[in-house]
Amino acid sequence: MVSPAFVFKWGIKKKLLLIELVLILCGRVTIVWDAMRILGGNALELPNRSKPSLPALTIDKDHVRQSLEDELTVNNLICCNLLLDGEFYTLYLDILKKSKSILHFIRATEEQLFSEYRAIQKVLRHFMHPSRLGSRISRLVLVRNILAHRIVPREKLGHIPEDKKKELEEALFKATKEVYTDVRKKVVSLSNKIQKSVSAFEGRRNIDLNTLSSTIVHFCRRCMRIVSLDRFRQRTCACGQKITRLSQVKQIPINHFNDRLIDFLEKNYWLEYGLDYLLKRKNFQTFVGYYVLGHSGVWHEIDNIAVSRGQNYRFFCECKNAEVKEKDIFVFSGKMIDIGCTRGYLFTTSEKVTDEIVRLGRAKNIDIVTGVLKRGTKSLLEEIKES
Ligand SMILES: [Zn+2]
Repeated sequence: MVSPAFVFKWGIKKKLLLIELVLILCGRVTIVWDAMRILGGNALELPNRSKPSLPALTIDKDHVRQSLEDELTVNNLICCNLLLDGEFYTLYLDILKKSKSILHFIRATEEQLFSEYRAIQKVLRHFMHPSRLGSRISRLVLVRNILAHRIVPREKLGHIPEDKKKELEEALFKATKEVYTDVRKKVVSLSNKIQKSVSAFEGRRNIDLNTLSSTIVHFCRRCMRIVSLDRFRQRTCACGQKITRLSQVKQIPINHFNDRLIDFLEKNYWLEYGLDYLLKRKNFQTFVGYYVLGHSGVWHEIDNIAVSRGQNYRFFCECKNAEVKEKDIFVFSGKMIDIGCTRGYLFTTSEKVTDEIVRLGRAKNIDIVTGVLKRGTKSLLEEIKES
């Protein structure tokens, strides 16, 4: 039989336990709520309750960057795990250049194209000579009207003889068509070169890259102007042709890197993901391109964070696709101090750094790893210490 005293004692203990549990839960909720409030509900916390020697980090990721990385072709590039491969780097640098050129040509205004093309300038020079038109028509009037996307209107040509007006109109139409024909040839040639180099690389490495995007370009069959991109649209071309049927346009698919992939490459995020692949191979838990809250209350962008699976070792990495300067070490070291990280690596595509920079890095507990595109995976993996 259970004595009443025991029931009383047990009842008190139960109550105390319950109160304690409620207090703990409230405490947890308040801490989580506080963190969410401070970080606008978007931050993550690296849990590390069991190891007080390695304090928890408050980290957050920029939405714009996250959506960029989620884009399909960007994600395919990240997942190919070839970002630090020297041959692959040369390939995508070349495609990047060609893609930018394609996008420039298919999106350029006539004003931009005419300023680049000699065909139009030749016509202008030809008709600028007073004897050609027998009039004082100014170069300005001509240029302004050409740039307004049409052949010079007859009323602007004033008292120019009819035969000369016709001659000028025909010459401008011919020159415009020449410009757009050349644009078409250029973009088709660039697209073909891109596909050829990608398929050759895929064949050599036995992989599928899936990083190219396709744009269907619609050219007016009469003047060769680009009338629409991606899908067919009914409209009046600048040459005066009313385009209502598909047969009035030439549809050409052009392959290139899209804007997001170009952005990803130009911002050097590829280097951070190349390094991330190495860190994952070392079995670290990794975070790429996160902001970390410093003790000062300032958020610092850290390229790579690596945490050992046992949660007792953590380091930060900085990636540089340029020469390393003293300032880079000081800035990186400053971020580490403010956050409370004691170990860092600086990975650079540069093949050499000065002895002073190495010494400075060593003093701040930052190892500098050079020539990341030349060394090969094995050599790079040896540089990263596991504890
Ligand atoms: Zn046209």
